[in-house]
Amino acid sequence: LQGNVPHLYIDGEWVTSQSSDRLLVNSPSTREVLGDVPRGNAHDIDVAVRAAALAHEERRWLSLSLNERACILWQIGEQLIAHSDDVGRLTAAEGCTPLSQAIGETKAAGRIFQYYAGAVDKIQGDTIPVDGEILDYTLREPLGVTAHITPWNAPMFLVARSVAPALAAGNTVVIKPDEHTPLGILRVAEILQQAGIPAGVVNIVTGTGIEAGAPLAGHELVNGITFTGSVETGRLVARAAADNIVPVVLELGGKSPNIVFSDADQDGALGSLAAGALSVFRRAGQVCAAGTRLLLHRDIYDGFLTRLVERAKQIRVGPTLDDLDIGPIISEEQFCKVMGYIEEGRKEGARLVLGGRRMESENLRRGYFVEPTILAEVDNRWRVAQDEIFGPVLCVIPFDTEDEAVQIANDTAYGLAAEIWTGNLSRAHRVAKRIRAGFVRINGQGGPPQCPAGGHKRSGYGHELGLGALHHYTQVKNVWLAL
Ligand code: NAD
Repeated sequence: LQGNVPHLYIDGEWVTSQSSDRLLVNSPSTREVLGDVPRGNAHDIDVAVRAAALAHEERRWLSLSLNERACILWQIGEQLIAHSDDVGRLTAAEGCTPLSQAIGETKAAGRIFQYYAGAVDKIQGDTIPVDGEILDYTLREPLGVTAHITPWNAPMFLVARSVAPALAAGNTVVIKPDEHTPLGILRVAEILQQAGIPAGVVNIVTGTGIEAGAPLAGHELVNGITFTGSVETGRLVARAAADNIVPVVLELGGKSPNIVFSDADQDGALGSLAAGALSVFRRAGQVCAAGTRLLLHRDIYDGFLTRLVERAKQIRVGPTLDDLDIGPIISEEQFCKVMGYIEEGRKEGARLVLGGRRMESENLRRGYFVEPTILAEVDNRWRVAQDEIFGPVLCVIPFDTEDEAVQIANDTAYGLAAEIWTGNLSRAHRVAKRIRAGFVRINGQGGPPQCPAGGHKRSGYGHELGLGALHHYTQVKNVWLAL
C-alpha cells in the first residue's frame, strides 16, 4: 500500500499544504498506521476553491465539446473499473469494507461515472408557450463551483455519486473526503489526470471536518454543496449554505424499517436481512440505508427470528483485507458508541438473541470488531430503535396489522429507506405509498445508478442518482424574446 501522500490535488497538480501538519491514516482492522496525508486547512480550501472558480470562469471544462466531456467521464469510469483492485485495496485497508466488497464499490463508482457520461448532452431546458409573438425558453446552466463533503463508510461510491453528475452538468468541483478514508480518493486523482480532466476542474483537499470541511461549506465562491454525513454536521453545512444563499443537498442518516409480513418469501427475506446490500450486518452496519429495524409479523415472529439468528451466526467477521463478510467499526469513538447502545438496549428491556460483545480473538483484538448483534422484542420508542447506531445491531419489533407496521415504520425522525417483504402485491404498493422514506425496496434489494436515492424527514433533502439529480447541479435561466 502506498500510504504516504505528500500533497493535495489542486489545479491539476500535487501541491503542498500550507499547514505542515499531517493526518495519520489508521487501519480500523489492525490499528496499524497505513500512511499519512496533508492536514489541509482554510488556506488550502481557499486555494482549491479559487482554482475551481478560475477553471469555471475560463471555461476549461465547458469549452470542451459535449462529446469530449462525455468521453472523459466515461474514461474515468472505465479506469475506476480497470483499477478497482488497487483502489479497492486502499479503501478496504483504510476503511470498514471487506476487500471484494470494496472492489465492488469501486466498480459501482465507475459505473456511476459512465451513467452520467451519457447524460452530458441530455441536460436540456423547455420551450414554454406564451401568448403573442414571443419565444420563451429555459436554459439549464451549471452552478459554477460545487463542494462535495463525504463520509468514510462508502468513500468511493459516495464521492462518485455527487461528483459525476456535478461534472456532467458542467460544474467544477472541490472534494473534501473524510479524514478516516482519504487514501483511495487521492488515488482517484491520478485516474482523473489520466482520463484527461482539465486542470482545476476537480480538486481534492484532505483534512478534518472543522479545519477543511467547514471552510469549504462556508466559502463565498462555492455555488452549491452536496453533503453526505451525520444530521448534526448536516445542520452546520446547511447553515453555512444559507449564509451564502447557495443550494445544498443533504444525504444524512437513517433508521430504516425492514417489514416482513406473514405471507413473505421467508428465504428471500432471510438472505436479504443477513447479507443483502442493505443488511444491517453489511459493512458492520455502517450503511446509511441499512435496515436497522426489523418489523416482524407476530404470526411468524418466533420461527423467522430463530432462522435469522442461525443465519447471522454464519457471518464471518475479520480484518477487511482477509475479505470475509464484514469488517470492523471505523474508529474507537464509534466502537464505544455502538457498544454503549447495545448495553442500553439490554437495560431498556430488549432480549439479546445474538452477539453483543467485542470480538477479541487473537487476530481481531487490535481492531474494532463487534459481533453481529440482534436485540429482540424491542419497543420502537426506545433509543436503540430511534437513534442511528451505525453498527451491526438489528432491533426486532413485532407487529400485528398492516396499519401497525406502517405506524411503527414511520415513527422515527428519519426517512431514508424501507424494505417490504410480502407475497401480496396490493399490500406491497399500499405500504410503499404510506411509508415516509426516500426509497422503498420490495421483495429484494438493489439500486443501479438510474434509480434515485435520497432522504425524507431528518434524512435530508435533495436526492442523488438518476437523471433528476442533475437538477441539483444546474440552475434554470428563462429567456423571453419578442420576435
Ligand atoms: P460526519 O458528519 O461526522 O462527517 C462527514 C463529513 O463531514 C466528513 O468529511 C467530515 O470531515 C465532514 N465534517 C465534519 N464536521 C464538519 C463541519 N463542521 N463542517 C463541514 N464538514 C464537516 O459523518 P460520519 O459520522 O463520519 O458519517 C456517517 C454518517 O453519514 C451517518 O449518519 C450516515 O447515515 C451518513 N451517511 C448518509 C448517507 C446518505 O446517502 N444519506 C450515505 C452515507 C452516510
